[in-house]
Amino acid sequence: MPEGRIVKALSGFYYVADEGRVFSCRARGLFKKKGAKVNPLVGDWVVYDAISEEEGYVMEVGERTSELVRPPISNVDQAVLVFSMYKPAFSSLLLDKFLVHTENAGIDSVIILSKSDQVSEEEVAEIARKYEAIGYTVIPTSTKQQTGLQEVRDILHDRISVFAGQSGVGKSSLINALFPGASLQTGDVSEKLGRGKHTTRHVELIPLDGGGYVADTPGFSSLEFMDLTELDLAEAFRDFADRAADCKFRGCLHVTEPSCAVQEAVETGEVSKERYENYLQFREELKEYQRRN
Ligand code: GDP
Ligand code: ZN
Repeated sequence: MPEGRIVKALSGFYYVADEGRVFSCRARGLFKKKGAKVNPLVGDWVVYDAISEEEGYVMEVGERTSELVRPPISNVDQAVLVFSMYKPAFSSLLLDKFLVHTENAGIDSVIILSKSDQVSEEEVAEIARKYEAIGYTVIPTSTKQQTGLQEVRDILHDRISVFAGQSGVGKSSLINALFPGASLQTGDVSEKLGRGKHTTRHVELIPLDGGGYVADTPGFSSLEFMDLTELDLAEAFRDFADRAADCKFRGCLHVTEPSCAVQEAVETGEVSKERYENYLQFREELKEYQRRN
């Protein structure tokens, strides 16, 4: 039986794309039964049974490499986190928070520093260096000067990407510059949305010329820490996780433990003090969240 990718889910139908054709499929009952582990998600690779040129049944759901709950989408390869250098000003606190979420979901992140025309090159380079040192790809862009656009197209190629970032950072401008004519929903993560509002808008994968998809979805709809444990939070900081093997205690949270490689690296400047302080702040928010829920 043929295989394809679910690119859209709506009213009980799964739209399975296979080599340029799209089949509207019902799921075989087994996915919906109580106790069944798997509900098909947009992004899933599936085995389907075509019953006509346009219709079929989803028979089997393949293993997932990642899974987001809000928005409900699987196999996202990367989050494209758009942060502007100016209006709104760059916030390492918010970026580090996004990164906690993407790391926890098992999704790679690419950081876009938008409106780079508004500040000095050195200012952009300093932030880029900091996050590149941790292992992230950082791309400064300006839609005004048309810079960085090809690099962004290159990283989108052949991958499934979700755009996210605060309102006003320039996501729409960027997407229009990248793909003239496309109008995608992109995630505005505002304080309001951060309150855990459930949106039931459907999710759709928009195919890119030459391969790859961009999810047409309002990005992450919640930046609450939800079901993270303290250790999940610590492990979501790549630069900490890379050093945790050298901490004296297994499961070290890098706060007050003795012989902690992370605290030592903060002292020597190998780990950014700002990031470490953001981590401590998130620990407080996590505790507060758990008190309330
Ligand atoms: P969104 O809310 O993230 O979709 O942001 P928009 O794309 O609507 O852009 C918000 C504002 O930033 C608009 O006034 C844009 O003209 C401006 N903007 C977007 N990209 C750039 C850029 O690269 N340079 C400058 N200087 N302004 C930009
Ligand atoms: Zn430690």
